[in-house]
Amino acid sequence: MKTSILSEWIFIYVALFLLILFLCSVYSEIRKRRFDPKPSDDRIFRCGDCAYVYTDDPTVDRARCPHCGCMNDPFTF
Ligand SMILES: [Zn+2]
Repeated sequence: MKTSILSEWIFIYVALFLLILFLCSVYSEIRKRRFDPKPSDDRIFRCGDCAYVYTDDPTVDRARCPHCGCMNDPFTF
């Protein structure tokens, strides 16, 4: 009788622990999705003169290098 009550309590503790662990993982996943930065649509430019790498708006076809002032085409990978 005494051992069956003890095993029931152990089962309840383990079940509660697993439930709390599950809730924590769900909560952290929700937090991660909320704060994950989305990839930027900005274009990447690499200066032909000074090799400086910079970004500009996706609507811009050519951008001026902030380092030396040279106009550059977007960099394609
Ligand atoms: Zn430059």
